[in-house]
Amino acid sequence: MPLQIIRNDITKMKVDAIVNAAKNSLLGGGGVDGAIHDAAGAGLLEECKTLGGCETGKAKITGAYNLPCRHVIHTVGPIYRDGCHGEPKLLSSCYRESLKLAKEAGCETVAFPLISSGVYGYPKAEALRIAVDTISEFLSDNDMTVYIVIFDRKAYQIGEKLFADIEAFIDDNYVDSHSDDRYERRRRMSLIRHDDDFDGNIPACPPPMLGSAPMEKPVMMQKAAVVSLDDAVKQIDESFSEMLLRKIDESGLTDAQVYKKANIDRKLFSKIRSDKNYKPSKPTVIAFSIALELSLEETKDMLMKAGFALSHSSKFDIIIEFFISRGNYNIFEINEALFAFDQSLLGV
Ligand code: ADP
Repeated sequence: MPLQIIRNDITKMKVDAIVNAAKNSLLGGGGVDGAIHDAAGAGLLEECKTLGGCETGKAKITGAYNLPCRHVIHTVGPIYRDGCHGEPKLLSSCYRESLKLAKEAGCETVAFPLISSGVYGYPKAEALRIAVDTISEFLSDNDMTVYIVIFDRKAYQIGEKLFADIEAFIDDNYVDSHSDDRYERRRRMSLIRHDDDFDGNIPACPPPMLGSAPMEKPVMMQKAAVVSLDDAVKQIDESFSEMLLRKIDESGLTDAQVYKKANIDRKLFSKIRSDKNYKPSKPTVIAFSIALELSLEETKDMLMKAGFALSHSSKFDIIIEFFISRGNYNIFEINEALFAFDQSLLGV
């Protein structure tokens, strides 16, 4: 997955480069800077002394000494005052300049802490938004795996309003699904009571896939009717991979645009492209449907091709529904929300 948000201690990351939230002097400090210098050993400070400091928003690269990575990229984030003193531009520049250096050094994997979000006081939700936006912009033109490493889950915040909205949506939909169940049970009980063959056993609920199948078919047929009967029959038989490639053609996007928007690795996409019977994971299917900006119904169709369905008893599914129903197809924002609610992320 090209961009991942994970919880870890950055000094433990076995990547090509880790990024340090350093001070202008580059001579070490507290927070993540202190942790990196402690773990790297005295050699790092000796090399940093030769660099002549670093301006805010810029970056410099060194060796990694005793750390398990190959390089340390030192960048200096802005001290947050009120957001009106060029802080967003400088913070975004930290990510861009660091990624530029990583690329020049041939790095394929890079890990960032949430720069400026500690002692430098940047509000965490805003710092995260800038990190995600700047990194995803870079990844739209470059192949690299980038981690945003969150040290302490309490330090992780998506916007308060977004969090509250998602929470409310989850609550509403959990309630709906449970009351549906009760309603459905009562309805079946009343049918059963009029059935002479009723043996006292309540039939088990059908699995969600079977339950939704009768609803899905007419939708597919209806759409197919505007093409030809021939095409309609072909669409019913097509595999997930064939459906995906057809949807990409119909969208007018290139393959690369789609797998990047889906936060999917190029190699995985080639596998799916060349294997007609490829069995994707559920997050992978949803990642593609988000990249293609499919409606909820179309997303369900695509999930069905891979043997999955959306269910109201899964938080993950409800969060996906939340974003699709609002027309928000930004996979990185969706992943931030999934991370905040402890769910698996979209992509590989
Ligand atoms: P700044 O001065 O740029 O604010 P800090 O080091 O104070 O830098 O904090 C930056 C972020 O790094 C904070 O969110 C903090 O929680 C986090 N952090 C601190 N130690 C580590 C670590 N070992 N690994 C990853 N992140 C860390």
